[in-house]
Amino acid sequence: MDQKYDVLIVGGGPGGVAAAYICHKLGLSHLLIESGKAIFQGIANTYPEGKNVYPSKPKENPEPFLVEELRPPDKPVTVEKYIQYVQHFVQHEGLNVLTDTQFENIEDGREYLKVLTSRGTFQAKRVLLAFGSSIPKELSVYGDAKMVAKGLDDPKKYIGVRTLVIGGGNSAADVIISILKEKRNANDTEPVYWAHVAETFDVNKETAQRLGEEILLGGNIRLLPGATPRIGEVDDEGVDRLVIRVSEDKIPGGIERYHAMSFPMKNVIACIGSQGPTSIYDRIGVQTIACAEGVCQVAKEGDRLLLLTSDFESTRKGVYVIGGAISPSYMRINKGAIQEERHPNLIYTAVNDAHHVIDAIAAKLKK
Ligand SMILES: Cc1cc2nc3c(=O)[nH]c(=O)nc-3n(C[C@H](O)[C@H](O)[C@H](O)COP(=O)(O)OP(=O)(O)OC[C@H]3O[C@@H](n4cnc5c(N)ncnc54)[C@H](O)[C@@H]3O)c2cc1C
Repeated sequence: MDQKYDVLIVGGGPGGVAAAYICHKLGLSHLLIESGKAIFQGIANTYPEGKNVYPSKPKENPEPFLVEELRPPDKPVTVEKYIQYVQHFVQHEGLNVLTDTQFENIEDGREYLKVLTSRGTFQAKRVLLAFGSSIPKELSVYGDAKMVAKGLDDPKKYIGVRTLVIGGGNSAADVIISILKEKRNANDTEPVYWAHVAETFDVNKETAQRLGEEILLGGNIRLLPGATPRIGEVDDEGVDRLVIRVSEDKIPGGIERYHAMSFPMKNVIACIGSQGPTSIYDRIGVQTIACAEGVCQVAKEGDRLLLLTSDFESTRKGVYVIGGAISPSYMRINKGAIQEERHPNLIYTAVNDAHHVIDAIAAKLKK
């Protein structure tokens, strides 16, 4: 039997953690699922090392931080310290969190919504989507490549293994630098392969310098320019593998000759950029509206904005969306009118959205 909750929360960033905490305080059963290794994985992946975190608040919003416990301190702390503090907080409060769990879809049930995830199905009366604004792109290959990591949660995992990093930009280079550093500390000489579909890699000067330093210190890196991930398959021993074509040429008679390499998917990291959450909204069937000329102040003409009530409920009953997932603006349905609502992407906004939504859900469920 699937487990049942009052609220299932998708995403363990500031919005999701605030929502879980308020559920806990109000006595609503909850489960927070996070695709990363740990709470605040999204922030850990996107902030540069050592960056200060500020308790920024939009000028036009008079409301205080509604969950003081998650407010970054006035005297800014580094992102690493803030993450550590929040992870302790989550543990101390005993919030119900399942990491390494990817949200996939929602199906309707009689009394409960069914939430399909990479770890099976859960049932909840309400679903709160707090997955932020930056959804990593999936590799598009024949077959399934879901096992491929989309970021680096623990560089130690790659010690002693030949690792493949896919992507030609700064984030791929950063991942490689971290793995090479860890391998160097462990005297591991196994290479890191760096593959990119284009013939050239495109990183900024500062990243190139750090990468160069690692190579000079003995980092074993093999470049695979012009390489294309092709197939996700399971081998005879049941290992999920990714086949990547590393070179090809055409010979007469319509024949293609190519070299390919096949890596266990658990040794592959794809850093191929991120996209907005619109594809997820389409998949789960919540309505968006395209901005017509002159209608939107924040969004550009043609951008598709999510349609939400003033309680952040989407057009799919029982499904709410908050935080970075609806920034920088959404369409608010208010007294029969629809208007674009500015929604800055800040910790403050995510946390306060969570407070409003869970209050509204609690009021409805307790009726
Ligand atoms: C470099 C940088 C610096 C910033 N500095 C500040 C600052 O100083 N102060 C400030 O107020 N704001 C700052 N921001 C903005 C702030 O980080 C965001 O507004 C905030 O993190 C949004 O919170 P959220 O909970 O909506 O989403 P996120 O923090 O993005 O959290 C979403 C979580 O959902 C998870 N997830 C995604 N997809 C799935 C899925 N399919 N299944 C399960 N889980 C999923 C992600 O792994 C992530 O952990 C900064 C942003 C950046 C990029």
